[in-house]
Amino acid sequence: MLPSSTPEYSPETPTNAHYRPLPLPPQATSPLVLIEGFLSCTSEYFWGDFETHLNAHRAEVGSKKRRHIIFARVSPVNSVHDRACELFYSLKGGTVDYGEDHSIQNGHSRYGRHHSTGLYPSWSAKHPLHFLGHSMGGVTIVKMMSMIRDGFFGPDAHPDMVATLNCVGSPFRGTQIGYWITGSFTTAPKFAPISISTLVSWYLHLMSYLSPILPSAIVPDFHNEARNLTMKDMSFLDLLRQLCCSDWSEGKDAIPWDCTFQAGEDRDLEWESSRGMGGRTWYRSYVNSWTELSNPQEPFHTPKKFSMTPMWLLSWIMGGFDFHRIKPLPKFLADRLSISEDEDFNTLDDPEGGILVSSETSSEVDSLADGNSMPVLLDENHFANDGMVPSFSQWHPGNCNDSSCTHYAPLVDTARLPHSHLREKSILKPGVWNVITVENSHHFSLMPLWFGTHQQHTFWYGLGEWLEEVDAVRSLLSLHDAIPKMDALKMEAKLRMRVVPNAYQ
Ligand SMILES: [Zn+2]
Ligand SMILES: [Zn+2]
Repeated sequence: MLPSSTPEYSPETPTNAHYRPLPLPPQATSPLVLIEGFLSCTSEYFWGDFETHLNAHRAEVGSKKRRHIIFARVSPVNSVHDRACELFYSLKGGTVDYGEDHSIQNGHSRYGRHHSTGLYPSWSAKHPLHFLGHSMGGVTIVKMMSMIRDGFFGPDAHPDMVATLNCVGSPFRGTQIGYWITGSFTTAPKFAPISISTLVSWYLHLMSYLSPILPSAIVPDFHNEARNLTMKDMSFLDLLRQLCCSDWSEGKDAIPWDCTFQAGEDRDLEWESSRGMGGRTWYRSYVNSWTELSNPQEPFHTPKKFSMTPMWLLSWIMGGFDFHRIKPLPKFLADRLSISEDEDFNTLDDPEGGILVSSETSSEVDSLADGNSMPVLLDENHFANDGMVPSFSQWHPGNCNDSSCTHYAPLVDTARLPHSHLREKSILKPGVWNVITVENSHHFSLMPLWFGTHQQHTFWYGLGEWLEEVDAVRSLLSLHDAIPKMDALKMEAKLRMRVVPNAYQ
């Protein structure tokens, strides 16, 4: 079990030659932007009156001030790269630019939809936004942040434009589901002849092709202007060729690939290379937990409660998933195997490629000898899951590191941390992932559908408090920037003062 801790804030923030903090307006109330996941294109109606619940803590102290929510419109099916571009320009305004190199490499037009007015045109480091992503929505925000740091959106885009990044059930490092939906564990990004991805791909192509003659109300908004897939852009023969083997969905510029562990490894490298950029962004990831150890001697998990839903079946399968069926092997498993080679391990031949098992775990060897080829070198966090994403993948990009993540004790019967950092006069450091596990919640317990549960109420309440705290800290840091000669200890004392009541006014 990872330790629970509350690190103390230090006025020093990670900086390098490229990063310069920018002053902020005092006590800004930055809006919160919501980004949905794969195949999700619901609306505020389905999410419920979450804006009221997000501001519930303000109402409690009699404040009429509200934090507004912006519902981002991005493609439900495009790749994480393309969705990140769509997210940026839909907020800022202008024509979506997918990048010259990217568009050439992936065979689509460089430019997409034009937004004559952005959803938040003043978005900048001085007027930052908070972000909340569900599932692949969180991965999309991480991608956009990497691209901002790498200069993809030009010199005016600054890392501090993202005040907080909050993710719920996001598969940062991929998920087994990515392989199931393509019907193959070894050919990604190519699909099996018949798979969920194949059916979705046919639907996408047919709807896109017929969109000029179909009522707009029945055609989902795929944001695929750059793909030129309508009957005005391509012949019927081209359509048949795409139905047979799609250039779009069976490539690496599509979301089925982005769900795989290989794609997660690529994103991890990208995130790590841009992380040194620093910045004043605060991170929270909410980890849905729906399973428990099926046997204390083994790492495998099973759902806590039986339910007649596909989610229960998926969760059960994921809890005992055989990771070494995937080719090439996911890096987290390959690394464990290579570490094992330096130790006293036995090798068992296996028709799927073999697996190493500690010579000291004779019961596991016996288990494999009986035909069970489970990857026993992995810990239980690879088998714990929410029905769609394994727990370790919901934490954050990359491996755990003392300086970049803090894991809290799991929350039971609530989705709100039991304390407020500012009320405890300790302020969290930017740049650190705060990982909050919510027990008894599956992939859709918190969002995007509103069930009115206690879990959902406490989630929005706690999120509202957290955003309030970050706004207050950012404003104080702005003061720190404006008076660079102020003694660091005095500044820290100011940061620890009780600022919450003022922030609500
Ligand atoms: Zn693309
Ligand atoms: Zn961690």
